[in-house]
Amino acid sequence: MKNSIAAIDHYIHGQVVANTSGRTQDVFNPATGALTGRTGLADVDQVNAAVVAAQAAFPKWADTPPIRRARVMFKFLELLNQHRDELAHLITAEHGKVFTDAQGEVTRGIDIVEFACGIPQLLKGDFTEQVSTGIDNWTIRQPLGVVAGITPFNFPVMVPMWMFPVAIAAGNTFVLKPSPTDPSPSLRIAELLKEAGLPDGVFNVVQGDKVAVDALLTHPDVKAVSFVGSTPIANYIYETGARHGKRVQALGGAKNHMVVMPDADIDQAVDALIGAGYGSAGERCMAISVAVLVGDVADKLIPKLVERTKTLKVLDGENLDAEMGPIVTKAAHERIRGYIDLGEQEGATLLVDGRGFDGKKAGEGCEGGFWLGGTLFDHVTPEMRIYKEEIFGPVLGCVRVKDLAEAVDLINAHEFGNGVACFTRDGNVAREFGRRIQVGMVGINVPIPVPMAWQGFGGWKRSLFGDMHAYGEEGVRFYTKQKSIMQRWPESIGKGAEFVMPTAK
Ligand code: NAD
Repeated sequence: MKNSIAAIDHYIHGQVVANTSGRTQDVFNPATGALTGRTGLADVDQVNAAVVAAQAAFPKWADTPPIRRARVMFKFLELLNQHRDELAHLITAEHGKVFTDAQGEVTRGIDIVEFACGIPQLLKGDFTEQVSTGIDNWTIRQPLGVVAGITPFNFPVMVPMWMFPVAIAAGNTFVLKPSPTDPSPSLRIAELLKEAGLPDGVFNVVQGDKVAVDALLTHPDVKAVSFVGSTPIANYIYETGARHGKRVQALGGAKNHMVVMPDADIDQAVDALIGAGYGSAGERCMAISVAVLVGDVADKLIPKLVERTKTLKVLDGENLDAEMGPIVTKAAHERIRGYIDLGEQEGATLLVDGRGFDGKKAGEGCEGGFWLGGTLFDHVTPEMRIYKEEIFGPVLGCVRVKDLAEAVDLINAHEFGNGVACFTRDGNVAREFGRRIQVGMVGINVPIPVPMAWQGFGGWKRSLFGDMHAYGEEGVRFYTKQKSIMQRWPESIGKGAEFVMPTAK
């Protein structure tokens, strides 16, 4: 049977709009390698049309009482719960991650919508009565206007939901520029928002590449940009957006370490490394890609890790037994294979080699897919490129260190600082680790410490450019500006003009 190739277009002012640029990008099912769609790549005119729609919708939406905006979010939440599996299947079809993991992704997105439902409470300001005789002073937070989100391939539902629920609930209008690799969920989200009662123009989607991104970054009516993706692009977004007077938060790449202390529960640590190293084929910004093995723990842990890596269930993501699916694209597959070749050349010990994995073993029709098995290196050292660079694939490297201090120094010297974990049974080690580590999100016996919706997400160093983390109260601050109002009424107005700095009277 011949596959039908879907045209995946834009969503502007409440409707799907065909791409007019004449440029497209192919979309594949990574499990089979089949071409399934073509994403339109917007030109500047189509980006401008989306911004015009969002700008036109802004005054009325910003004026809508927060409780009514929250009611739209509540309805959207209900629809997301009803359509959770449908969205998860869309993710698996274009990203390749296993269906159960895709369900988890949608759920973590839903968490943020639940948080955004509390917007009336979150927007409450401060009030000081009687700052001077007859004068009160208070603060309010008002929306910015049109804000844009530029998102990566690896969480096509969750990462946009780190942004738009909070932005929209706070009274902004939104233009999403998803990854062209897995664009379909963005359009389904747009439809669900409309069904929830969101007015046309409040949420728009432009599919695209650098052309669309640059148009958003330089557009005078875009007031803020949220970005999640790789570090070089995050850096570019931050600099370009700031140069054009925008508020920018740009979350970048990662190299997350997991320290295993000699007193750790070895089986728990192995479970954690397998799940966090190979889950979603290592294509998570919070994946563990380096195991830091302290003292003699390597001798106990490595044999178990080898065994588990070899027996990973690498299957078509739609198979409910699958633990790991395919790699997202052919290009990513080649890049990751290149890093495995490099690790051997650099002198690391290749304990498990995923390069020989045969797609036929993953399921029917999978022989043309982008498959790799789990790969494990030992004796990785800090000078190696496989240690320094983000591989973003199912490749776990083990570094051996003598003690906690060496582990902490190693991690603190790394350019990235997204997530980190420490496995130990010692409370003091846990406390010291949490205090001294130069990383934004820390797990103690928790391998992937992704903060909950009300906490806020963000790394340090070259994993985040900007001042504020995504979602949580930081997200509310990012998408609003504070205004201070000072007020008195005629009966309390003093006598004549004042020429000295006003002070409390
Ligand atoms: P990417 O940087 O290639 O793309 C991200 C977005 O930027 C996409 O929308 C893409 O179309 C756009 N883009 C790509 N090249 C561009 C260019 N030259 N100019 C302007 N825009 C451009 O990232 P990806 O491969 O889609 O996603 C994987 C990366 O995202 C990894 O580095 C991962 O660590 C990172 N990530 C980080 C977080 C985090 O929270 N820190 C979360 C998820 C993913």
